[in-house]
Amino acid sequence: MQKLGAEHSAIREIFEQANARALQIGRENVFDFSLGNPNVPAPDCVQEELKRLVSEMPPERLHGYSSAAGLPEVRERVADYLRGTFGANARAELIYMTCGASSSLTATFGGILNRGEEVLVLAPYFPEYRVFISQAGGLMKPVRTDENFHIDAQAVEAAITPKTRAIVVNSPNNPSGAVYGAAELQALCKVLSRKSAEYGARIFLIADEPYRELTYGADVPYLMNFYADTVVCYSFSKSLSLAGERIGFAAVNADMEGAKDVFAAISGAARAAGYVCAPTLFQRVCAHSLGKTGELSVYGGNRTLLYGALADMGYACNKPEGAFYLFVKSPEPSAAAFCARAKKYGLFFVPSDSFGVEGYARISYCVKREMIERSLPAFRALAEEYGLVK
Ligand code: PLP
Repeated sequence: MQKLGAEHSAIREIFEQANARALQIGRENVFDFSLGNPNVPAPDCVQEELKRLVSEMPPERLHGYSSAAGLPEVRERVADYLRGTFGANARAELIYMTCGASSSLTATFGGILNRGEEVLVLAPYFPEYRVFISQAGGLMKPVRTDENFHIDAQAVEAAITPKTRAIVVNSPNNPSGAVYGAAELQALCKVLSRKSAEYGARIFLIADEPYRELTYGADVPYLMNFYADTVVCYSFSKSLSLAGERIGFAAVNADMEGAKDVFAAISGAARAAGYVCAPTLFQRVCAHSLGKTGELSVYGGNRTLLYGALADMGYACNKPEGAFYLFVKSPEPSAAAFCARAKKYGLFFVPSDSFGVEGYARISYCVKREMIERSLPAFRALAEEYGLVK
């Protein structure tokens, strides 16, 4: 725990370095693409509901505790929304309001894992999974994806052992920007069903969905409709730009055998970790704002600008299908060396090693458009140093 607390994550490390560099050479000369902190404002409905609640609600209700799993009316609205929007078999009594996807995931791993059991994650993956899984006594096992970072069902099948208890599916994906389509998800679910039957032990599918609404046209299938043993870990951090308010939920599929017991286990793990009664003000605000988003087209504009410019300069990158990250191939074998060289030009982005793949860098484009525009000469100078520009 001391080690965990004393070390920054690789992402935070780069962020801190960018801040330190800004003090030396001026903020205007530093282009920080490290964090996934949404930069578009929350939609107006958030402010309006906040104001209404603060002015109209008696303080003892406004600031008081809720039940451990959240306010009943909020859980009801979330379940209604999931049923109405996705046709999912969601039930209020199987929704646990949490402090963002981080605590949804922590509680879910804590609820379903026995010591020494394995959780598959598709590489590249969000680095905090390792922390969340290991604190629950589990073992994170990365599985490679295909050349476009989509699911390779055969690779998943080969990785499953009798100890496999779950797989995490994060789509739209941080950091690759991939959005998994219905066909590849169906192929994955077939493998999970077949292997669960073969080993006589179920394998849960954990859908980590903070970026669900952030797509550029791609459909994001709702996994509860594909596979009974699904738990959805959702967050309002990115869709409503409320990352600092720490609010989301875990939803257990009502189609799951023993759904009530699984929900009780997740609630128990949440309780053990101290995650009871997620911030009540934001439970209410989010229940009021279901289906709304900030101005996400801003990210679409950033994607077009950054992807177009970098591809023109000779960088190899996949066009993101969702989320707000560009995953760029490192022009030299070591991504760390690439990112170190970029810093000379004031460019700060994250090497892919901590995401479980080598030779790429994650450029987070939830930043001001104007900063991307100003950064392009630096990207060009870096491309010239590598001889990429034709
Ligand atoms: N999962 C993924 C893939 C993420 O990128 C993040 C945050 O960036 C989280 C989970 C955690 O989100 P939250 O802010 O809701 O805890």
